[in-house]
Amino acid sequence: MAHTNIVIVGAGPYGLAIAAHLHARRVPFRIFGSPMLSWSAHTPKGMHLKSEGFASNLYAPGDAFPLSRYCADHAIPYADVGLPVSAETFVEYGLDFQRRYVPNLEDRQLVALAQSGAAFDLAFDDGERLTAETVVLATGLGAHARMPAELAGLPRDRVSHSWQCGGLDQHAGRQVVVIGSGASALDCAATLLQGNAEVSVLTRSDVINFHSPPADGRRSLREMLFWPRTGLGPGWASMASCKGPRLIHALPERTRHDFVRRHLGPAPCWFVRDQVVGHASLHTGVSLAGAEMAGGRVQLHSTRATGEAVVLHADHVLAATGFEVDLRNLAFLSPGLLGRLRMEDHKPALSSNFESSVRGLHFAGPASAASFGPLLRFAYGARFAARRIARHLA
Ligand SMILES: Cc1cc2nc3c(=O)[nH]c(=O)nc-3n(C[C@H](O)[C@H](O)[C@H](O)COP(=O)(O)OP(=O)(O)OC[C@H]3O[C@@H](n4cnc5c(N)ncnc54)[C@H](O)[C@@H]3O)c2cc1C
Repeated sequence: MAHTNIVIVGAGPYGLAIAAHLHARRVPFRIFGSPMLSWSAHTPKGMHLKSEGFASNLYAPGDAFPLSRYCADHAIPYADVGLPVSAETFVEYGLDFQRRYVPNLEDRQLVALAQSGAAFDLAFDDGERLTAETVVLATGLGAHARMPAELAGLPRDRVSHSWQCGGLDQHAGRQVVVIGSGASALDCAATLLQGNAEVSVLTRSDVINFHSPPADGRRSLREMLFWPRTGLGPGWASMASCKGPRLIHALPERTRHDFVRRHLGPAPCWFVRDQVVGHASLHTGVSLAGAEMAGGRVQLHSTRATGEAVVLHADHVLAATGFEVDLRNLAFLSPGLLGRLRMEDHKPALSSNFESSVRGLHFAGPASAASFGPLLRFAYGARFAARRIARHLA
């Protein structure tokens, strides 16, 4: 069996940034994954990023290849703030980044990971097996899609999660109910409307909290004082998240988890408002109670806070109900390894160097947000993670 010291699994913003930093330090490693796959295959057609241009970089050492440079090289309009970045541009940028900084990427899937003495055994979908002393998992959110239990009884072709957003433009003439009020829900609703579907959005929130567009021109002193601009949006809680992930790491578990859960709740982008409001039926303040098939269509039962029942009929239901990191969802983790991992609410408990309780096994990206705060849920956090992990492994 082949042996290597360090293996990175995942080729999104986190895996690629960690690889670029290790490469610069001349630390040998192997990296596996499909480059930018979450962004090319799992974002709705026509989507734009929620993060501003300056917060949508991929990180090489010295921030050598920011999105602004890629856009300048390809004559793509770019602004640090106020000009939404298309997912298509972000994917092309990511592929260019990968070719420049991570040419050794191997496009293969990890199917099994187990501990064997002081090392790890890894198996890949093409049959290759290897051992490694250190493994960094940067596999993103894909395994952690959260599906409401109320939809469990529906036939599989009548319900999907926003993660499977590939064929959204193929629902022309059909009635689709989108559940949720975050960016994914409204982005999917916009794509469905463009494909001539009849769309209803159902959410238990009383209002849909669209982000406000960034102010044009100079910001007032008051705005700068009370709402400082950060890569996670304006405000002091976001400033603390960006500047202090190590301080957040030092907080007691309960306080840390509460902060991560509460800060930056569901909020669609300002630029999808006009595409959806007035075009889709919005049902706010409504909680899903159950779903069944009736006369060949889906019948959704929900209730308002007042107790009033609301029944909706649909050809398809799209659950844009977010993600919840839970290590039990990682099918490649052996039961033995899973059993040895110290977890907090089914998320990995990590050291200040992103190392789990199993020596040599590291987690980066959204799986590390419960340890380091909301910054790690976004591409913007990859700079912090890559620097720290590369220094530690070097
Ligand atoms: C719809 C949507 C919109 C978003 N918009 C934004 C935004 O505007 N700005 C922002 O900063 N964040 C956004 N996010 C959050 C985004 O997920 C993270 O910012 C970022 O993608 C996390 O990077 P990552 O490298 O951890 O994971 P990902 O980008 O998800 O990459 C995961 C990588 O792991 C690989 N992989 C997974 N499993 C395996 C396996 N078993 N074997 C080998 N490889 C594997 C995949 O192929 C992929 O290469 C959005 C998320 C969603 C779902």
